[in-house]
Amino acid sequence: MDSRNDLVPASRSRRAIPASVIKIAFGRSANRCAFPDCAPVLLDNGVPLLEICHISAITAGGPRYSASLTESNGNSIDNVIILCPTHHRLVNKNVETFTIEELVRIREEHYERVQRALSVEQKHTTSSRLAKLLKLWHGERTNGNEEFWQQLFSDRPEAFSLALEGRAYTLSSKCYVGGKSFANTGGNVLDFLAQHSGNVALVEIKTPTTKLLAPQKYRGNVWAPSRELAGSTVQALEYRHSLISNLPTLAFQTPGLRAAQPMGVVIIGDLEQEEMSEDERRSFELYRTAFRDLKIMTYDELFGGIEMLVELLGD
Ligand SMILES: [Zn+2]
Repeated sequence: MDSRNDLVPASRSRRAIPASVIKIAFGRSANRCAFPDCAPVLLDNGVPLLEICHISAITAGGPRYSASLTESNGNSIDNVIILCPTHHRLVNKNVETFTIEELVRIREEHYERVQRALSVEQKHTTSSRLAKLLKLWHGERTNGNEEFWQQLFSDRPEAFSLALEGRAYTLSSKCYVGGKSFANTGGNVLDFLAQHSGNVALVEIKTPTTKLLAPQKYRGNVWAPSRELAGSTVQALEYRHSLISNLPTLAFQTPGLRAAQPMGVVIIGDLEQEEMSEDERRSFELYRTAFRDLKIMTYDELFGGIEMLVELLGD
């Protein structure tokens, strides 16, 4: 530090709380006085009148002064609290009641209250997004337009979070991680997937009206998958094969790359609407459970999972 700073009167240089600290303190306090049940005075524009206060004064003789505080830790986030002018005066006039420990306790309790309020709000946001998604599902369940469903999943990647267990995945040449769309600039889809630590999926979308089984019985009590189901499973496996085949090249470009066990996922059909006989259902289950690296999920299963999640979040 510049030694000339020592020549600046302490009362001026030491009082300056950095703008970054002020911003963090107001943020953590949610622009509220930390004092319990404070009803702050509002300015004409509705903004509460607030002050950023030192818990331990950094000038000799100030409230709760501590000589051990240097300029830097005296103005750090640990030594400040947001109060309204009334409570600021109250705590500074009653330093025996409002000790350093007591003020820290008051502040931390306030920060916790803010955090709790925020997480409740977040829960409501997630829950209402998923509830809207469910409403859309109920309204469009018989929509057979593949582009409509591609678009729906592109716009609401959170719909996949249950089915894909947090895997990075691609859909219509777009990339997603953690339920968010990801700009895949300068690389291709395989590149993107390969860089996500092995925990990836390749998603193939059909529609809820796509039939799961062929219209006629194959023989005896055996039913074959529909042309669309067989085709989309091979398509997903083909993508997977392509990713694995490209790994040596991708690994050469990106040392430390991992993409073990990428998974293919096909979203297709609607078991509730297709109303299968026992034989048909058994043929379908035997077919879909035979794949090791491919998951076949029906629309009613996907949205059934979301319905359960909405109920859980609603508590
Ligand atoms: Zn107050």
